Amino acid sequence: MKKRRFGSHLPGVSVSHHKETANIPIIPMPTPKKVIIPMIQQIGAECQPLVKKGDHVLVGQTIGDTEQRISAPIHASVSGTVTAVQEFVTTQNVVTYAVHIESDGLQELDPSVQPPQVDSLESFITAVRRSGLVGLGGAGFPSHAKLNPKTLDSLHTLVVNAAECEPYITADNRAMVEYTKHLFQAIETVMQYLELDQAFIGVERNKPEAIALLRKRETDKIKVKVLPTRYPQGGEKVMIYEITGQVIQEGKLPGDYGVLVMNVSSLAFLGQFLETGMPLVNKWLTVAGSAIAIPKNVLVPLGTIYRDIIDFCGGYSAEPGEIFMGGPMMGISVFNDNFPVLKNNNAIIALAKEDVYTPKESPCINCGKCIQACPLRLMPCMFDRAGQVGDVDTLRTLKINLCMECGCCAYVCPADRQLVLANKLGKKLLREAQQKGK
Ligand code: SF4
Ligand code: SF4
Repeated sequence: MKKRRFGSHLPGVSVSHHKETANIPIIPMPTPKKVIIPMIQQIGAECQPLVKKGDHVLVGQTIGDTEQRISAPIHASVSGTVTAVQEFVTTQNVVTYAVHIESDGLQELDPSVQPPQVDSLESFITAVRRSGLVGLGGAGFPSHAKLNPKTLDSLHTLVVNAAECEPYITADNRAMVEYTKHLFQAIETVMQYLELDQAFIGVERNKPEAIALLRKRETDKIKVKVLPTRYPQGGEKVMIYEITGQVIQEGKLPGDYGVLVMNVSSLAFLGQFLETGMPLVNKWLTVAGSAIAIPKNVLVPLGTIYRDIIDFCGGYSAEPGEIFMGGPMMGISVFNDNFPVLKNNNAIIALAKEDVYTPKESPCINCGKCIQACPLRLMPCMFDRAGQVGDVDTLRTLKINLCMECGCCAYVCPADRQLVLANKLGKKLLREAQQKGK
């Protein structure tokens, strides 16, 4: 994505929105011929495959699970035959297994797909785990664990993160427009079983259609908060501060302040699951960028290969220079379009070669723009310097561990310093030093 060449006195950055798909309804894609479903799709433990080559599977059947708490079961997204269970390397270079399924085109449902019986907190948490839900905004934290924290008794406020501040992505916006009823049902259910006093839906101002629909359903306890359009408004700490005025201190979690944050698409899905019992087997996502012929919002079975989805969107209109899983600011650049859609994948953004900005680093000129842009008021230029000479003490003192890798610093840097990369390496240095007890 092209960079903006100047900073601002406000933290965060003003990025081009590119929300051209905002008014395009979510279209279901025809069932693909095959899907590849990796056994790790969330923060936490990987699942163990529960099927083997040759097995016949049905939609919604559990094909991967684990007894570890921080994890979520994985379900078949198509009916058909398991053609392989083989090693798979994730974008984070983690080696896991993936279940390959050849679709029979029938989309036969597993008999276990039934609306859950929910009448208590315990049965609610059990149902959420059964759904396979993880944070759909990108974080991928298992939702049943989030809804059952140690600090459950002190929770009082639900913050629904509907900022969708990344350029191009409009999947959350469409969820708010098309699944408003399910979104509110889920908010009410979460509030009921967790005994919360209030909920706020934090949405950026550039989503007028969604805001109008949300406002129609506002209640005394569920309020819509319209926020300035400024990246990274959807950062968890930024969102909590904007809505509640609460600063989350180092080492603390939102739950320590009585706040639970959930992504808006996660809640919209949860509302649907409570009604139908269909676990997380499909994903709505935005397919956009200058290399995509017909940008769309699509509903696809999990594990669908990027290339198949891009073909459904008319193929490439230009040679892609970079393909992102997620947005161009915090998304992950994938090596090719053979990658499968995962649970927390909210967009496929393919940029034409001429639109890919390749930074050419030059020495830091001490302009301080990276510090002005940092939403957490960190000092990325100092991290960069300290990291280069392995100065772990400075990295620790300046709190590199707080960096959320939002990319605002790199976006405004006139010297094209690769500050996010430097921050990642700096955090790794600090972790390694901590492990060695230094
Ligand atoms: S230092 Fe980290 S949190 Fe601050 S702007 Fe850079 S990437 Fe974002
Ligand atoms: S890294 Fe240096 S040149 Fe880049 S924004 Fe920060 S202070 Fe300015």
